[in-house]
Amino acid sequence: MTPLLKKAAFAALSSPPIYGHLQKRALKSDPLTILCYHTLGPDADDMDAWTVLRVSDFQRQVAALRRTYDIVSLDDALDPERRGERPQAVLTFDDGDTGLFTHLLPIVEADALPVLIYVATRQIETGQPFWFDRVMNALQTSGARINLRDTGLGEWAVPDTTGADKWEVISGILEALKTVAPDERDAVADRIVAQAPDRGAAPTPLVPVSRDQLAELAANPNVGIGAHSHCHSLLDQIPLDAARESVAMSKALLEGWTGQNIRHFAYPNGNYTPELGAMIADLGFESATVLDSALASRNGDPFALSRLAIGRYDSLQRFRLRLVGL
Ligand SMILES: [Zn+2]
Repeated sequence: MTPLLKKAAFAALSSPPIYGHLQKRALKSDPLTILCYHTLGPDADDMDAWTVLRVSDFQRQVAALRRTYDIVSLDDALDPERRGERPQAVLTFDDGDTGLFTHLLPIVEADALPVLIYVATRQIETGQPFWFDRVMNALQTSGARINLRDTGLGEWAVPDTTGADKWEVISGILEALKTVAPDERDAVADRIVAQAPDRGAAPTPLVPVSRDQLAELAANPNVGIGAHSHCHSLLDQIPLDAARESVAMSKALLEGWTGQNIRHFAYPNGNYTPELGAMIADLGFESATVLDSALASRNGDPFALSRLAIGRYDSLQRFRLRLVGL
């Protein structure tokens, strides 16, 4: 479909009678809408990272959701006794970036907004961002040529100008990195960082929350903390016992840091297998979420709950269409 045709189709689908019908159809069997975000950043920053939503975009999405949904905690959503009249939505945030403390916490406090933050613990322990955040920080630069030919990942030209086109290239590099052997990925990421000409270009670099910031987030009654593994490896790419160790470590660390029982888990990158699901259940979690751009079934497998991933380049119109499965 041409961009113009796509725009016209989206506009038609967003018109009140048609959208109302799509919404009714999508919500008919009482699914649960679980949204996956990563972090928030200042409106004025030209940060080309799908994971960084502008604060005002997030607030517009929350306002749009509240017209139809009750935004609730995952615990409330999974408890049949706490089911309300209106559809329910749950807001989740992966990884544990410092923007959650700086920008999300004030919104949570002002609006009594329930959120669930899935924290990958190694970056909190070391204070060093994971490979994907290091690459995103480094490539916020005025153009770069990244040569990864000797690793079989080709050559990449990061454009000068900010915007979705630049993100396309950065995202391509990140996806290519996911195909590298897990124990080599950090070294390839470091080579990309070394080839970026202006490494300090990120207006607000992605960095993990500090332990103090995490404690402050966890102390808010509307903030739930879940685990997201220690290493953030794609768990289906490493041996099951190593995956188990990483998840158990993140649970133990988070329980020590927050004084809370950590009962919810999100698979890094959404990578799920039934073996991983069984392992998560065995470690004492009550739920786990994937990333499959679908609405979750409340009666389905609690260790493979669907989520819709929302990013910086989703317009409000696109956001509303994602909610109804388009
Ligand atoms: Zn993650």
